[in-house]
Amino acid sequence: MATPKCPQCSSETFSLANKKIGTSTFPILLVHCSDCGSVVGCMDGLAMGPALDKLRADLGKDIMSIQAKLNLIDSKISMLPKV
Ligand SMILES: [Zn+2]
Repeated sequence: MATPKCPQCSSETFSLANKKIGTSTFPILLVHCSDCGSVVGCMDGLAMGPALDKLRADLGKDIMSIQAKLNLIDSKISMLPKV
């Protein structure tokens, strides 16, 4: 299977960048080489896949933070004298 490469520098690493182009009313998601920045493709900036991935990551961090706080509360409760 062929390995995607940047046509400018042959890097195999790519990134996404949200861009508003001209008078467009919606963002464009550019696929660009992570090393030299050459744009190799574009997609609708409202693409749900990347948005859902970010939402999932953000929610994961929030859940971990809440879990850590609950663990702290639980440990403090366990140190209270029994009545
Ligand atoms: Zn490149």
